[in-house]
Amino acid sequence: MVDLATQYEHIKAEINSAIDDVLKSTAFINGPYVRQFKENLEKHLGVRHVITCANGTDALQLAMMALDLQPGDEVITATFTYVATAEVIALLRLTPVLVDVVEDSFVIDPDKVEKAITKRTKAIVPVHLFGQCADMERILDIANRHGLYVIEDTAQAINADYRFSDGRVMKAGTIGHIGCTSFFPSKNLGCYGDGGALFTNDDALAEKLSMIANHGQRVQYYHDIIGVNSRLDTIQAAILNIKLARLNDYTLARQRAAEYYDRAFADHPLVKTPRRVSNSTHVFHQYTLTLDPKVDRDGLKKYLANHQIPAMIYYPVPLHQQKAYQSERYKTGDFPVAERLSKSVISLPMHTELTEEQQDYIISHVFNYLNQYKV
Ligand SMILES: *Cc1c(COP(=O)(O)O)cnc(C)c1O
Repeated sequence: MVDLATQYEHIKAEINSAIDDVLKSTAFINGPYVRQFKENLEKHLGVRHVITCANGTDALQLAMMALDLQPGDEVITATFTYVATAEVIALLRLTPVLVDVVEDSFVIDPDKVEKAITKRTKAIVPVHLFGQCADMERILDIANRHGLYVIEDTAQAINADYRFSDGRVMKAGTIGHIGCTSFFPSKNLGCYGDGGALFTNDDALAEKLSMIANHGQRVQYYHDIIGVNSRLDTIQAAILNIKLARLNDYTLARQRAAEYYDRAFADHPLVKTPRRVSNSTHVFHQYTLTLDPKVDRDGLKKYLANHQIPAMIYYPVPLHQQKAYQSERYKTGDFPVAERLSKSVISLPMHTELTEEQQDYIISHVFNYLNQYKV
Protein backbone atom coordinates (compact mmCIF):
# COMPACT_ATOMS: atom_id res chain seq x y z
CA MET A 1 0.00 0.00 0.00
CA VAL A 2 2.97 2.28 0.67
CA ASP A 3 6.60 2.17 -0.45
CA LEU A 4 8.63 3.52 2.43
CA ALA A 5 11.78 1.78 1.24
CA THR A 6 11.98 3.69 -2.06
CA GLN A 7 11.09 6.93 -0.32
CA TYR A 8 13.90 6.33 2.18
CA GLU A 9 16.38 5.68 -0.64
CA HIS A 10 15.81 9.26 -1.90
CA ILE A 11 16.50 10.87 1.49
CA LYS A 12 18.84 8.28 2.96
CA ALA A 13 21.92 10.49 3.30
CA GLU A 14 20.05 13.22 5.16
CA ILE A 15 18.15 10.78 7.39
CA ASN A 16 21.22 8.76 8.32
CA SER A 17 23.20 11.86 9.13
CA ALA A 18 20.39 13.25 11.34
CA ILE A 19 20.02 9.95 13.20
CA ASP A 20 23.77 9.76 13.61
CA ASP A 21 23.71 13.23 15.07
CA VAL A 22 21.10 12.22 17.68
CA LEU A 23 23.08 9.09 18.55
CA LYS A 24 26.24 11.14 19.09
CA SER A 25 24.45 13.79 21.15
CA THR A 26 22.60 11.13 23.24
CA ALA A 27 19.79 13.71 23.65
CA PHE A 28 17.21 11.00 23.00
CA ILE A 29 14.41 12.66 24.96
CA ASN A 30 13.38 16.27 24.25
CA GLY A 31 16.53 16.96 22.25
CA PRO A 32 16.91 20.07 20.06
CA TYR A 33 15.28 18.39 17.02
CA VAL A 34 11.99 18.15 18.91
CA ARG A 35 11.78 21.91 19.36
CA GLN A 36 12.98 22.49 15.81
CA PHE A 37 10.29 20.21 14.42
CA LYS A 38 7.60 21.81 16.57
CA GLU A 39 8.57 25.25 15.27
CA ASN A 40 8.86 24.11 11.66
CA LEU A 41 5.44 22.49 11.82
CA GLU A 42 3.87 25.58 13.44
CA LYS A 43 5.23 27.63 10.56
CA HIS A 44 4.13 25.14 7.91
CA LEU A 45 0.57 24.89 9.23
CA GLY A 46 0.20 28.52 10.26
CA VAL A 47 -0.86 27.55 13.78
CA ARG A 48 0.25 29.19 17.04
CA HIS A 49 1.07 25.98 18.89
CA VAL A 50 2.17 22.47 18.04
CA ILE A 51 2.49 20.08 21.00
CA THR A 52 4.29 16.87 20.08
CA CYS A 53 3.37 13.57 21.71
CA ALA A 54 3.88 9.82 21.41
CA ASN A 55 1.22 8.89 18.82
CA GLY A 56 -2.06 9.98 17.29
CA THR A 57 -4.23 8.08 19.75
CA ASP A 58 -2.48 9.84 22.64
CA ALA A 59 -3.06 13.17 20.89
CA LEU A 60 -6.81 12.49 20.91
CA GLN A 61 -6.70 11.44 24.56
CA LEU A 62 -4.70 14.52 25.59
CA ALA A 63 -7.20 16.72 23.75
CA MET A 64 -10.17 15.22 25.60
CA MET A 65 -8.32 15.47 28.94
CA ALA A 66 -7.53 19.14 28.38
CA LEU A 67 -11.18 20.06 27.87
CA ASP A 68 -12.22 18.87 31.35
CA LEU A 69 -14.97 16.65 30.07
CA GLN A 70 -16.85 14.75 32.78
CA PRO A 71 -17.85 11.07 32.80
CA GLY A 72 -21.07 10.69 30.87
CA ASP A 73 -20.51 13.74 28.70
CA GLU A 74 -21.28 12.96 25.09
CA VAL A 75 -18.78 13.34 22.25
CA ILE A 76 -20.03 13.04 18.69
CA THR A 77 -17.92 11.34 16.03
CA ALA A 78 -18.36 9.31 12.84
CA THR A 79 -19.13 5.60 12.90
CA PHE A 80 -17.15 5.03 9.69
CA THR A 81 -13.57 5.60 10.82
CA TYR A 82 -10.54 4.15 12.55
CA VAL A 83 -11.24 3.00 16.10
CA ALA A 84 -8.86 5.40 17.91
CA THR A 85 -11.32 8.29 18.08
CA ALA A 86 -14.10 6.35 19.80
CA GLU A 87 -11.59 4.42 21.89
CA VAL A 88 -10.22 7.39 23.81
CA ILE A 89 -13.72 8.78 24.30
CA ALA A 90 -14.79 5.50 25.90
CA LEU A 91 -11.55 5.12 27.90
CA LEU A 92 -12.15 8.49 29.57
CA ARG A 93 -15.67 7.31 30.52
CA LEU A 94 -17.23 9.75 28.10
CA THR A 95 -20.01 8.54 25.83
CA PRO A 96 -19.17 8.17 22.15
CA VAL A 97 -22.17 9.25 20.10
CA LEU A 98 -21.82 7.91 16.58
CA VAL A 99 -23.27 9.43 13.44
CA ASP A 100 -23.32 8.51 9.77
CA VAL A 101 -21.05 9.83 7.00
CA VAL A 102 -21.66 11.37 3.59
CA GLU A 103 -21.88 8.96 0.65
CA ASP A 104 -18.91 9.17 -1.76
CA SER A 105 -16.80 11.62 0.25
CA PHE A 106 -16.74 9.46 3.44
CA VAL A 107 -16.62 12.39 5.89
CA ILE A 108 -18.94 12.99 8.85
CA ASP A 109 -22.42 14.26 7.91
CA PRO A 110 -23.10 17.66 9.56
CA ASP A 111 -26.89 17.16 9.41
CA LYS A 112 -26.50 13.98 11.42
CA VAL A 113 -24.18 15.73 13.87
CA GLU A 114 -26.76 18.39 14.60
CA LYS A 115 -29.52 15.81 15.08
CA ALA A 116 -27.36 13.89 17.60
CA ILE A 117 -26.87 16.85 19.94
CA THR A 118 -28.37 16.53 23.45
CA LYS A 119 -27.96 18.44 26.72
CA ARG A 120 -24.97 16.22 27.54
CA THR A 121 -23.10 16.86 24.30
CA LYS A 122 -19.76 18.60 24.90
CA ALA A 123 -17.66 18.06 21.80
CA ILE A 124 -17.62 17.05 18.15
CA VAL A 125 -14.71 15.11 16.66
CA PRO A 126 -14.79 15.36 12.86
CA VAL A 127 -12.37 12.90 11.26
CA HIS A 128 -10.89 14.16 8.00
CA LEU A 129 -11.13 10.67 6.57
CA PHE A 130 -8.82 9.46 3.77
CA GLY A 131 -7.33 12.94 3.30
CA GLN A 132 -9.99 15.60 2.89
CA CYS A 133 -11.63 17.83 5.43
CA ALA A 134 -15.08 17.34 6.83
CA ASP A 135 -17.47 20.28 6.29
CA MET A 136 -15.73 22.41 8.93
CA GLU A 137 -17.67 25.59 8.23
CA ARG A 138 -20.97 23.87 9.05
CA ILE A 139 -19.46 21.96 11.96
CA LEU A 140 -18.03 25.14 13.50
CA ASP A 141 -21.39 26.85 13.03
CA ILE A 142 -23.18 23.99 14.78
CA ALA A 143 -20.57 23.96 17.56
CA ASN A 144 -20.86 27.72 18.08
CA ARG A 145 -24.63 27.64 18.28
CA HIS A 146 -24.58 24.81 20.85
CA GLY A 147 -21.44 25.82 22.78
CA LEU A 148 -19.44 22.71 21.86
CA TYR A 149 -15.73 22.02 21.44
CA VAL A 150 -14.41 20.84 18.10
CA ILE A 151 -11.46 18.43 18.06
CA GLU A 152 -10.26 17.62 14.55
CA ASP A 153 -8.79 14.19 13.92
CA THR A 154 -6.43 15.03 11.09
CA ALA A 155 -4.30 11.87 11.28
CA GLN A 156 -5.13 11.22 7.61
CA ALA A 157 -5.26 14.78 6.29
CA ILE A 158 -2.17 16.68 7.33
CA ASN A 159 -1.43 19.44 4.80
CA ALA A 160 -4.98 19.55 3.39
CA ASP A 161 -6.26 23.10 2.85
CA TYR A 162 -9.77 24.06 3.91
CA ARG A 163 -11.39 27.07 2.25
CA PHE A 164 -14.18 28.98 4.03
CA SER A 165 -16.89 30.66 2.00
CA ASP A 166 -15.34 34.08 2.80
CA GLY A 167 -12.12 32.92 1.09
CA ARG A 168 -10.04 32.25 4.23
CA VAL A 169 -7.86 29.15 3.88
CA MET A 170 -6.70 27.13 6.88
CA LYS A 171 -4.76 23.89 7.19
CA ALA A 172 -6.63 20.79 8.35
CA GLY A 173 -6.27 20.44 12.11
CA THR A 174 -5.85 24.16 12.79
CA ILE A 175 -9.52 25.07 12.43
CA GLY A 176 -11.22 23.69 15.54
CA HIS A 177 -10.22 24.20 19.19
CA ILE A 178 -7.66 21.39 18.95
CA GLY A 179 -6.33 19.29 16.05
CA CYS A 180 -4.79 15.85 16.50
CA THR A 181 -2.47 14.04 14.15
CA SER A 182 -0.35 10.91 13.89
CA PHE A 183 3.12 10.38 12.46
CA PHE A 184 2.66 6.61 12.12
CA PRO A 185 5.03 5.50 9.32
CA SER A 186 2.32 5.10 6.66
CA LYS A 187 0.65 8.46 7.35
CA ASN A 188 1.22 11.32 4.91
CA LEU A 189 3.85 12.76 7.26
CA GLY A 190 5.23 9.60 8.84
CA CYS A 191 8.24 8.93 11.02
CA TYR A 192 10.09 5.61 11.50
CA GLY A 193 8.18 4.54 14.59
CA ASP A 194 5.36 6.13 16.56
CA GLY A 195 4.70 9.84 16.87
CA GLY A 196 1.87 12.34 17.15
CA ALA A 197 1.01 15.98 17.71
CA LEU A 198 -1.69 18.42 18.73
CA PHE A 199 -2.40 21.80 17.17
CA THR A 200 -4.14 24.76 18.74
CA ASN A 201 -4.34 28.53 18.40
CA ASP A 202 -5.39 28.88 22.06
CA ASP A 203 -2.46 29.79 24.34
CA ALA A 204 -4.08 28.48 27.54
CA LEU A 205 -5.07 25.19 25.93
CA ALA A 206 -1.54 24.82 24.52
CA GLU A 207 0.00 25.18 27.95
CA LYS A 208 -2.46 22.73 29.45
CA LEU A 209 -1.83 20.18 26.69
CA SER A 210 1.95 20.36 27.20
CA MET A 211 1.46 19.91 30.94
CA ILE A 212 -0.83 16.90 30.50
CA ALA A 213 1.63 15.30 28.07
CA ASN A 214 4.33 15.78 30.70
CA HIS A 215 2.85 14.30 33.92
CA GLY A 216 0.78 17.40 34.62
CA GLN A 217 3.82 19.48 35.51
CA ARG A 218 4.93 22.95 34.49
CA VAL A 219 7.93 22.82 36.82
CA GLN A 220 9.66 19.47 37.23
CA TYR A 221 8.36 17.44 40.20
CA TYR A 222 5.47 19.87 40.83
CA HIS A 223 2.33 18.21 39.50
CA ASP A 224 -0.60 20.60 39.22
CA ILE A 225 -2.95 18.35 37.27
CA ILE A 226 -3.13 14.65 36.45
CA GLY A 227 -1.23 13.96 33.28
CA VAL A 228 0.37 11.17 31.32
CA ASN A 229 3.77 10.52 29.77
CA SER A 230 3.52 11.10 26.03
CA ARG A 231 6.60 12.29 24.13
CA LEU A 232 7.93 12.37 20.60
CA ASP A 233 11.42 10.79 20.48
CA THR A 234 14.27 13.03 19.32
CA ILE A 235 15.19 10.53 16.59
CA GLN A 236 11.63 10.66 15.23
CA ALA A 237 11.62 14.48 15.34
CA ALA A 238 14.89 14.54 13.38
CA ILE A 239 13.35 12.30 10.71
CA LEU A 240 10.14 14.34 10.63
CA ASN A 241 12.06 17.57 10.05
CA ILE A 242 13.53 16.11 6.88
CA LYS A 243 10.20 14.77 5.66
CA LEU A 244 8.29 17.96 6.57
CA ALA A 245 10.53 19.89 4.17
CA ARG A 246 9.21 17.57 1.42
CA LEU A 247 5.59 17.39 2.55
CA ASN A 248 4.31 19.66 -0.23
CA ASP A 249 6.07 17.55 -2.86
CA TYR A 250 4.81 14.35 -1.24
CA THR A 251 1.29 15.74 -1.25
CA LEU A 252 1.56 16.64 -4.95
CA ALA A 253 2.83 13.16 -5.79
CA ARG A 254 -0.22 11.61 -4.08
CA GLN A 255 -2.59 14.02 -5.84
CA ARG A 256 -1.03 13.23 -9.22
CA ALA A 257 -1.37 9.49 -8.58
CA ALA A 258 -5.02 10.00 -7.54
CA GLU A 259 -5.79 11.91 -10.73
CA TYR A 260 -4.21 9.14 -12.77
CA TYR A 261 -6.47 6.56 -11.07
CA ASP A 262 -9.44 8.91 -11.51
CA ARG A 263 -8.95 9.18 -15.25
CA ALA A 264 -8.64 5.42 -15.62
CA PHE A 265 -11.77 4.59 -13.63
CA ALA A 266 -13.89 7.62 -14.58
CA ASP A 267 -16.28 5.91 -16.96
CA HIS A 268 -16.38 2.44 -15.48
CA PRO A 269 -19.96 1.55 -14.54
CA LEU A 270 -18.94 -0.73 -11.64
CA VAL A 271 -16.69 1.62 -9.67
CA LYS A 272 -17.14 5.07 -8.18
CA THR A 273 -14.01 7.17 -7.74
CA PRO A 274 -13.62 9.18 -4.51
CA ARG A 275 -15.64 12.38 -4.69
CA ARG A 276 -13.83 15.60 -3.78
CA VAL A 277 -15.67 17.96 -1.49
CA SER A 278 -15.75 21.51 -2.81
CA ASN A 279 -14.11 23.33 0.11
CA SER A 280 -11.10 21.15 0.92
CA THR A 281 -8.11 19.94 -1.02
CA HIS A 282 -7.60 16.18 -0.87
CA VAL A 283 -4.21 14.86 0.24
CA PHE A 284 -5.07 11.22 -0.50
CA HIS A 285 -3.99 9.33 2.53
CA GLN A 286 -6.08 6.65 0.83
CA TYR A 287 -7.44 6.29 -2.67
CA THR A 288 -10.73 4.52 -2.08
CA LEU A 289 -13.09 3.14 -4.71
CA THR A 290 -16.71 2.26 -4.04
CA LEU A 291 -17.72 -0.91 -5.88
CA ASP A 292 -21.11 -1.72 -7.33
CA PRO A 293 -22.91 -4.15 -4.97
CA LYS A 294 -22.75 -6.94 -7.53
CA VAL A 295 -18.92 -6.96 -7.49
CA ASP A 296 -17.39 -9.61 -5.22
CA ARG A 297 -15.04 -7.37 -3.27
CA ASP A 298 -13.16 -10.17 -1.53
CA GLY A 299 -12.73 -11.83 -4.91
CA LEU A 300 -11.22 -8.63 -6.32
CA LYS A 301 -8.91 -8.27 -3.34
CA LYS A 302 -7.76 -11.89 -3.71
CA TYR A 303 -7.31 -11.52 -7.48
CA LEU A 304 -5.15 -8.44 -6.97
CA ALA A 305 -3.14 -10.17 -4.21
CA ASN A 306 -2.49 -13.07 -6.59
CA HIS A 307 -0.88 -10.52 -8.89
CA GLN A 308 1.23 -8.96 -6.12
CA ILE A 309 -1.08 -5.93 -5.81
CA PRO A 310 -2.02 -5.04 -2.25
CA ALA A 311 -5.50 -3.63 -1.59
CA MET A 312 -7.10 -2.90 1.76
CA ILE A 313 -10.58 -2.50 3.18
CA TYR A 314 -10.80 0.70 5.23
CA TYR A 315 -12.98 -0.05 7.15
CA PRO A 316 -14.73 -3.41 7.10
CA VAL A 317 -16.89 -2.85 10.20
CA PRO A 318 -18.36 0.52 11.28
CA LEU A 319 -17.80 1.33 14.96
CA HIS A 320 -21.45 0.80 15.98
CA GLN A 321 -21.15 -2.81 14.77
CA GLN A 322 -17.83 -3.49 16.54
CA LYS A 323 -18.11 -5.82 19.54
CA ALA A 324 -16.41 -3.36 21.88
CA TYR A 325 -18.69 -0.46 20.96
CA GLN A 326 -22.04 -2.16 20.72
CA SER A 327 -24.61 -0.34 22.77
CA GLU A 328 -28.36 -0.30 23.19
CA ARG A 329 -28.20 3.11 21.51
CA TYR A 330 -27.54 1.56 18.10
CA LYS A 331 -28.63 -1.30 15.94
CA THR A 332 -27.72 -2.50 12.48
CA GLY A 333 -29.55 -0.32 9.99
CA ASP A 334 -29.12 2.90 11.97
CA PHE A 335 -26.27 4.16 9.78
CA PRO A 336 -27.06 2.95 6.29
CA VAL A 337 -24.33 4.89 4.48
CA ALA A 338 -21.53 3.60 6.73
CA GLU A 339 -22.93 0.08 6.61
CA ARG A 340 -23.10 0.16 2.82
CA LEU A 341 -19.61 1.66 2.49
CA SER A 342 -18.09 -0.91 4.83
CA LYS A 343 -19.25 -3.60 2.39
CA SER A 344 -18.29 -1.87 -0.85
CA VAL A 345 -15.08 0.19 -0.42
CA ILE A 346 -11.62 -0.91 -1.45
CA SER A 347 -8.43 1.14 -1.22
CA LEU A 348 -5.68 0.81 -3.81
CA PRO A 349 -1.95 1.40 -3.29
CA MET A 350 -1.38 5.13 -2.70
CA HIS A 351 1.96 6.68 -1.82
CA THR A 352 4.62 9.13 -2.88
CA GLU A 353 6.63 6.74 -5.04
CA LEU A 354 3.94 5.29 -7.34
CA THR A 355 4.96 5.29 -11.01
CA GLU A 356 2.51 5.43 -13.92
CA GLU A 357 3.83 2.02 -14.95
CA GLN A 358 2.87 0.59 -11.55
CA GLN A 359 -0.51 2.30 -11.72
CA ASP A 360 -1.14 0.94 -15.23
CA TYR A 361 -0.43 -2.56 -13.89
CA ILE A 362 -2.84 -2.04 -10.95
CA ILE A 363 -5.55 -0.46 -13.12
CA SER A 364 -5.41 -3.14 -15.82
CA HIS A 365 -5.79 -5.88 -13.20
CA VAL A 366 -8.80 -4.16 -11.64
CA PHE A 367 -10.31 -3.96 -15.14
CA ASN A 368 -9.48 -7.60 -15.86
CA TYR A 369 -11.34 -8.68 -12.74
CA LEU A 370 -14.34 -6.46 -13.42
CA ASN A 371 -14.62 -7.78 -16.99
CA GLN A 372 -16.38 -10.92 -15.72
CA TYR A 373 -19.47 -8.80 -14.94
CA LYS A 374 -21.89 -7.99 -17.74
CA VAL A 375 -22.83 -4.32 -17.64
C1 LIG B 1 -3.79 6.59 12.42
C2 LIG B 1 -4.99 7.20 12.98
C3 LIG B 1 -5.13 7.48 14.35
C4 LIG B 1 -4.17 6.99 15.39
O1 LIG B 1 -2.85 7.26 15.22
P1 LIG B 1 -1.73 6.38 15.96
O2 LIG B 1 -0.51 7.19 15.82
O3 LIG B 1 -1.67 5.07 15.27
O4 LIG B 1 -2.13 6.23 17.39
C5 LIG B 1 -6.25 8.15 14.77
N1 LIG B 1 -7.22 8.52 13.92
C6 LIG B 1 -7.15 8.24 12.60
C7 LIG B 1 -8.25 8.69 11.71
C8 LIG B 1 -6.05 7.56 12.08
O5 LIG B 1 -5.99 7.29 10.78
